Amino acid sequence: MIDPRFASPDVDYETLATAPPHEVLEWAAHTIDRLAIATSFQASGLVILHQLRDIRPDLPVLFLNTGFHFPETIGFRDRLVEAWDLKLVELRGEHETPERQAEIHGPALYERDPDRCCFINKVEPLQKALEEYDGWISGLRRDQSPLRASTPVVEAQMLPSGNEVLKIHPLASWTREDVMGYIKMHQIPTHPLLEQGYRSIGCVPCTRKVDLSEDERAGRWDGFSKTECGIHTFGKAHQTEAEQ
Ligand code: SF4
Repeated sequence: MIDPRFASPDVDYETLATAPPHEVLEWAAHTIDRLAIATSFQASGLVILHQLRDIRPDLPVLFLNTGFHFPETIGFRDRLVEAWDLKLVELRGEHETPERQAEIHGPALYERDPDRCCFINKVEPLQKALEEYDGWISGLRRDQSPLRASTPVVEAQMLPSGNEVLKIHPLASWTREDVMGYIKMHQIPTHPLLEQGYRSIGCVPCTRKVDLSEDERAGRWDGFSKTECGIHTFGKAHQTEAEQ
């Protein structure tokens, strides 16, 4: 569903749904003024950042710093920010640090209530930041997990304030092979932990290596039924039963 504010007579949304990522990004960049990308610097995000360099290199790059990331993630992020001159915007929860989180919410909240931990570290900071934007780009792909299998290229997302933003998924129809093929073709550096058997890399306490027979995101929140942090499931116009 397209927000009427962005419905342009020049855009054929049905075509957009099957357009190559570069065309989707061009459309978003030229249609949505207050636009950002959110990424944790994994493979799909790298493809999008690489394509945006020709389209909107000035786009704010939102990074949710939970304080629980692998040092390799922060190091890789910083190297890429410098090499590609990215406009990094770091978002944090109100508690600011894991130490302060432990004081307020008790130790190891991620073990006791990972939904709450993700909410205060990811969902809430992103929701607040998105009040400054009309749209954001994410690297979600349909092949990543059953929950993401119906990801559209463009969807509306409602913020708690009642404001709506557009969420753009240029790589929705791409597979992991497409992404890795693009990265290889363009010699894009990748997250160092990929070589060690990680395929979806989040916070240290909630990420394990996966084998090739598993879903890409099977290593996230091992031991819980949780497969999403929540930033991709809140405020959707049409939630599936699994997302509710
Ligand atoms: S992924 Fe784990 S550590 Fe990170 S915010 Fe969510 S529950 Fe907390």
